[in-house]
Order: sequence, then C-alpha cells, then structure tokens
Amino acid sequence: MKITRLTTYRVAPRWMFLKVETDEGITGWGEPVLEGRARTVEAAVQEFAETLIGQDPMRINDLWQTMYRGHFYRGGAILMSAIAGIDQALWDIKGKALGVPVYQLLGGLVRDKMKVYSWVGGDRPADIVADMQRLMEGGFDTFKLNGTEEFGLLDTPRAIDTAVAKIAGVHDALGTQVSFGIDFHGRVSAPMAKPLLKALEPFRPLFVEEPVLAEQAEHYARLAASTSIPLAAGERMYSRFEFKRVLEAGGIAIVQPDLSHAGGITECHKIASMAEAYDVAFAPHCPLGPVALAACLQVDFVSHNAVLQEQSMGIHYNKGAELLDYVINKEDFRIANGYIHALPKPGLGVEVDEERVIRAAKNAPDWHNPIWRHKDGSVAEW
Ligand SMILES: [Mg+2]
Repeated sequence: MKITRLTTYRVAPRWMFLKVETDEGITGWGEPVLEGRARTVEAAVQEFAETLIGQDPMRINDLWQTMYRGHFYRGGAILMSAIAGIDQALWDIKGKALGVPVYQLLGGLVRDKMKVYSWVGGDRPADIVADMQRLMEGGFDTFKLNGTEEFGLLDTPRAIDTAVAKIAGVHDALGTQVSFGIDFHGRVSAPMAKPLLKALEPFRPLFVEEPVLAEQAEHYARLAASTSIPLAAGERMYSRFEFKRVLEAGGIAIVQPDLSHAGGITECHKIASMAEAYDVAFAPHCPLGPVALAACLQVDFVSHNAVLQEQSMGIHYNKGAELLDYVINKEDFRIANGYIHALPKPGLGVEVDEERVIRAAKNAPDWHNPIWRHKDGSVAEW
C-alpha cells in the first residue's frame, strides 16, 4: 500500500481534519490542529506530505521516526501537532486495512468503558450548579471548571476569595454528589499557586490542572509538597522527552497529554506507559473534535492508568459546530452514566461525514484566543 495524498480541512469551531488517501482506496482521518494556529499546523502537515507520499502507511513507527528524527529541528507545539494528526490517520488506515479497532492493535482492551467528564463554564456559582444539575440528568457526575480569570503575579486576598467563593458555592449546593477538577489554566503564577491551592483544599477537588505554566514545571514538586490536592498537567508538553523531566522531578499526579499535540497515538501510548511506571494517572486533554477524541479513547482503552477522558460536548468554545456534527456513527459515542463504551468500528472508530467536512471547510472561521490584559495594561495569561 502507498500513501497518495494528504488533504487538510479547516472547519468550525476551531478544528482541522486531515484525510490521508492510499492507492488501495483505504482512507485514514486525523486531527492535526493547534487551537489558534490551525493554518501554521496546516503548512507543517503539507511539508511532511512531501516525505510521506509514496511511502507504506503500515510502517507507522518508521514514518513517525522519520517525521521526528529525520529533521534536525524537532519537537514543539506546531511540529508535534502536525505529526499527531498524521499519526492518527496512519493508525486509522492500519486498523481499517486489518479490519480491527486500533485498541486491538495495541494489545486489546484493559477496560470495557471509559469515564468521561464535562466542562462547565461560567463564574457565578448558581449558574455552574444549574449547569451541573442539567448534565447530571444526562449521566455526568464529573466536571471541570476554570479556577480563575486573569490573576496577577502577586494578587490580592480578595482575588483569592473570589476564586474560592465560586468553588465553595458549588460544594455547598452539591456536596459529594459531584466531583470536579479545577483548571488554573496557567493563569496562576508560582507565588500565588501555593496560597490558592491551600484555600481550595477544603473543597477536595479531584485535581488542580496547570497549577503553574508548563515552563515553570520545576515548581510542581514544591507545590505538591504543600498541598493534598493532586496536581495535573501536560496539555502544553509535546513529547516523551518533556514528560520524562516532569515525571523524574515528581509532583504531578495526573499527566494530560493531548493526542493532537503530543505526537498522536504512537507517542501518547508511550507517555501513558512511562506515567504508569511512576504511579501517575493518565487523563488525555481533548477540547477538540471527534477524531482527536476517538484517538484518545483508543489509548485509554489499553492504558491501565487512564482515569478520565476530557471531551468537548457543549464546551463554550464549540461555536458553529458540535462534537458529533461531523460524525456518521454518532451512536458509538453515546455517553451512558458518564462512560463511553469501547468503539466497535475498525481503525479509530469514527466515521467522518466527509461531505459535511468539505462544506464546512468552505467557510471556516479563523479562531484565536482573546488577548487578555491586567488592570495596568500588561498582557495576562489566557
Ligand atoms: Mg487545561
């Protein structure tokens, strides 16, 4: 079999799909995208295409290493997102060619169904509680909330109290009926992370995500020593080589690589195994589309330390399209009592509605995150 063509489709809300075609008529889909940098990743995919066309798509390991090691400069968000989407499409082709889901090719199921959670936006506790109650009717009991809006390098007791009041309101209304993680989103700096974690401890969140930015990872071990809240990070780490340093330094209880940013299935399966060796849980980041989610689930189904899967149904970013709008086999992604069952179809297990993708690509928005500023006019972390 030979790879004949790579075609990218940027679509609403902020995603990009990749179709990899072969001379035997088998087609694989991937989702190579970096939110806000879709066009840059698209250019990287097209550069990799020059070395992929004419190659055997079944040799995923060699093609991955060629994309990674075959070029002097490697790694980082753009290149690893491009490799990620291409890698997903190659696994999709292999599974379809052999007639089995990807998890069969990775050794088979370690669980029957995967626990998923839902984002809840908003800042007013009453709105958050109402959203959670609505989602609880749909079977969810696990959620993630943002911890704060912009937060100063040295912020005030009032800012801490505002962040705590939101979590306290949810905790007082719903108690242990729900569990939730709190995403600091890299908005909190090292000096403030410690007091904020301490103030949130009584509400026993499942985890705090990106307590400080990944580039401040040396603080994770120190912060973990100061709090009983499990710390999570990984959506802005792009390879085994970055996770290696964090796992060795300690402090992170949950790694959250993104299957569309950290080299795809090939790389994230290895990151999950590395984490397992350190007794660290695996919870892939996925605020993206259905191909990315399917890729995450394939690795979750074979990784004993996979504990939670993020998914973007109803997420505040999904303007112009929802998670399953481009999917034909929607029933396979049905969430029952907070779980998704092992996807039965060959390959990644997602049947992409190609006509709809082509139509959507004609009118794709160019999504970027907003630029936030502090009160003094300086740039704030979004
Ligand atoms: Mg996050």
